[in-house]
Amino acid sequence: MSETPTRVALVTGASRGIGRAIATRLAADGRHVVLVSRSQGPLDELKAEIESAGGQATALAVDVGDREAFAKAIEGVAKELGRVDILVNNAGITRDGLIMRMTDEQWDEVVSVNLTSAFTACRAAARPMMKQRFGRIVNIASTSGVVGNAGQANYAAAKAGLVGLTRTLARELGSKGVTANVIAPGFIETDMTAVLPDEAKEQVLKAMSVPRLGQADDIAAAVAYATSDEAGFLTGQVMCVDGGLTMC
Ligand code: NAP
Repeated sequence: MSETPTRVALVTGASRGIGRAIATRLAADGRHVVLVSRSQGPLDELKAEIESAGGQATALAVDVGDREAFAKAIEGVAKELGRVDILVNNAGITRDGLIMRMTDEQWDEVVSVNLTSAFTACRAAARPMMKQRFGRIVNIASTSGVVGNAGQANYAAAKAGLVGLTRTLARELGSKGVTANVIAPGFIETDMTAVLPDEAKEQVLKAMSVPRLGQADDIAAAVAYATSDEAGFLTGQVMCVDGGLTMC
């Protein structure tokens, strides 16, 4: 019987927040994690942390909004490490504003980082995954993309776009052993939500069934399952990990 190879997992937005938790968890689960974000310093620190815990990691500073550089980086990983088994498109930004005041730049930037980058990565990773006849793609969306959110037309549209992209990939790649799923976090305590006023947090808490704010590890646990070898029958799904906020 042939042994399962060490799975190579590329995680974008790994320098902090949810992406950092995902990368740490996948490394603890025995994956060789490729850490992607724009900032080399935090990636190097995380790589050292993973290695000192006995794991394997590669740090790769690249702007996922730079389509050419990002695609080249993924091709480089496939060449150097010999495979790409897991792709987690987690890098994301917000540029909030009500629709009347939202600028073209706010729209374009959010769509580029949250949605177009995932297309770039999925297209680049699809080839090695199909060749291996194994792949696990997880795109990190948001409950905002499923139920909408006032002040986030750009962000909600980009995250909803990830759902269409993912379900199409699930249909195109399923017969090649490649699954694709969306994980849609609700309110998670990270830098992204730290800027929100306390009243907004209290309002969210009131609407939740699980009476606590989400933690990055809550999302990492869901990603760990969706990207595992045993999750081969899970594809085209949108998993809302939100403490019962939306139940979508
Ligand atoms: P965060 O703390 O702000 O971290 C964002 C990450 O994305 C950072 O690692 C950042 O790294 C990276 N990033 C941003 N722009 C990038 C670019 N152009 N190229 C490469 N990397 C880039 O956010 P988070 O809360 O962990 O969110 C992670 C994901 O979950 C996002 O997709 C977000 O939309 C989604 N989400 C979050 C929540 C929440 O409540 N926190 C809820 C729903 C969905 P650098 O700055 O170092 O490049």
